[in-house]
Amino acid sequence: MSTQTPQRPESPGLRMGRPFGIPVYVSPTWLIVAAFITYTFQPQVAAELPDRETVITYVVAFVFAVFLYVSVLLHELAHCVVARHFGLPVKRITLYLLGGVSEIEREPETPAREFAVAFAGPLLSLVLAGVGFVASDLLPVGTIPHVLVWQLWVSNLIVGVFNLLPGLPLDGGRMLRAGVWKVTRNSGTGTLAAAWFGRGLAVVLVVGPLALALSTGQEPSWSMMLWSVLLASFIWIGASQSLRVARVRARMPQLQARTLARRAIPVTSEVPLAEAMRRARQAEAGAIVVVDHEGSPIAIVSESAVTATPEQRRPWVTVGSLARTLEPSLVLRADLSGEALLDAMRGAPSGEYLLVERGGDIFGVLVTADVNRVFSGV
Ligand SMILES: [Zn+2]
Repeated sequence: MSTQTPQRPESPGLRMGRPFGIPVYVSPTWLIVAAFITYTFQPQVAAELPDRETVITYVVAFVFAVFLYVSVLLHELAHCVVARHFGLPVKRITLYLLGGVSEIEREPETPAREFAVAFAGPLLSLVLAGVGFVASDLLPVGTIPHVLVWQLWVSNLIVGVFNLLPGLPLDGGRMLRAGVWKVTRNSGTGTLAAAWFGRGLAVVLVVGPLALALSTGQEPSWSMMLWSVLLASFIWIGASQSLRVARVRARMPQLQARTLARRAIPVTSEVPLAEAMRRARQAEAGAIVVVDHEGSPIAIVSESAVTATPEQRRPWVTVGSLARTLEPSLVLRADLSGEALLDAMRGAPSGEYLLVERGGDIFGVLVTADVNRVFSGV
């Protein structure tokens, strides 16, 4: 249904195979949908195949549910094959409650490629609908193949058209994003526009059917309302997630280790905390680095450990006891910035990092809380 790069748990369900080398998983939530589809579709099958036993009509309805998911899988495969054509790594496809999700690990570099990856899915659904339409015309009415093919072309048409709706996280939203990106030459502006369209779509999806039902004097059916609320929340959540990503990216240029760094003072480990804090204040430094007697850094005093130490205990606690030993991963280059800085920090989560110059000289201390502050309110 959508192409996105969410952080999902490592085991998304049952692994079904590797078409085109892309691992496909089916989430157990799919069974709920399969049961629901079988249950709602069976009366229609029974009406079209009046001389068949009830159990057969249930089987046909279930086969339809499976075929529908195969169509969704083909839709996702279309996204993935085009993405791979552009050299984008594809992690996997997961089929779940509301359809399918392709996890493509990098975004296309140009708006034209973004458009192509996004359009491939709905295009394939529409082609399947077309083929199904022609095939259903050739099959004799009142037979099981006709019932299945007819229903499949209709549902692929719905899947194709629904995904073309212009709002993130739907494919149409990604196509809109590509268009705005092309015109404004700014992918961030494209994301913002398409995400706000997505939020608008979510509202229309809930209000629209309700207003339509009320204006024609009908009682809105609970199952229709349930589906529209479910779809609308899926779209709203996806759009909001895209907005957040866009805002984070917009702040990336501010993310430079050098400008975020605090000045640090060097102290040896046996110095009492109170004394070290006095020296830091005097030097207008925001961090304390523990050095050995040769003056080389061996640890960083943890700010959270300092805050947790009561005022009256500070003269009696040594800085060494509140410091985290400097492993190589906690020493970062002062000229790191943006995504590379975040990657280095993610690789070794800590409250503080030592920043050094190329030659190894100490530049200062990077405090994780200062980095997080760049993204506050996002
Ligand atoms: Zn799609």
